[in-house]
Amino acid sequence: MRKANLNYGFHFTGGEPFLNSDLLLRATEIVNELNIPSTFVETNCYWCINERLTREKLQLLKEKGLKGILISVNPFYLEYVPFERTERGIKISQEIFGKNLMIYQLEYYFLFKRLGIKERISVKDYLNLVKDDLRERVEMFLMGRAAYNLKELYPKYPANHFFDQPCQPPFLRNWHNHFDNYGNYLPGYCGGISLGDCRNLNELLKDGLDLERKPVLKFLINEDFKGLFHFAKDFGYQELREGYVSKCHLCIDIRKYLLERGEFDELKPKEFYSHLE
Ligand code: SF4
Repeated sequence: MRKANLNYGFHFTGGEPFLNSDLLLRATEIVNELNIPSTFVETNCYWCINERLTREKLQLLKEKGLKGILISVNPFYLEYVPFERTERGIKISQEIFGKNLMIYQLEYYFLFKRLGIKERISVKDYLNLVKDDLRERVEMFLMGRAAYNLKELYPKYPANHFFDQPCQPPFLRNWHNHFDNYGNYLPGYCGGISLGDCRNLNELLKDGLDLERKPVLKFLINEDFKGLFHFAKDFGYQELREGYVSKCHLCIDIRKYLLERGEFDELKPKEFYSHLE
């Protein structure tokens, strides 16, 4: 992390950072030792099974230097996390982190409270209970597994519909990028794409990206989606007949296919691609 030159803030996200609380604690210590400001963790509160445990973990993190917490709430989390745990996590986080607690999305928190929900509810049962248009209300990036698993909810378009659309937010940017637990430096939210090893970030900055050896990255950086599509077709890729729900859906479907056909150093970690559908 020292080599990453992080000066503007750092958040631990997932997956779910509390799956390995000891590691989260150690990472918080390191970030604090490096004087990186604005550290916070994102969680779905699955682990908030009782008051004592919840308070202990959060208090310890605060003592190690964590500045805040973001708690995720929407019907997709409600399907797996009993809402009473979410409420407990929010209540105790408020006591410990004060105004540095963010509930995302707040309107779902109030809605679930109003409905008196305590347990888990499947998305199907939730939709029977509330006539909710998840496409409108849940802020969602249709990328990664969401592109495949939620595709029935959205209209679909042929590949060429997306060729000239820019990536939103931009693919390369100097804010909100991620490092995964394998050391890959990910552009933005684009799982499965690596700009390089974050532990060698200074070298990456010094030498730049060798795009001739990273053709997929080259197409993406140049925003040449048509080029990427035809590159994949030359490898045998076939456009999905049913279409794509988003540009990211097209992007990931192409990348998944390419990875099955060849070695692409920029498509990492490989594990990401084996859990998409
Ligand atoms: S289209 Fe691809 S590169 Fe662009 S934002 Fe989506 S996943 Fe990232």
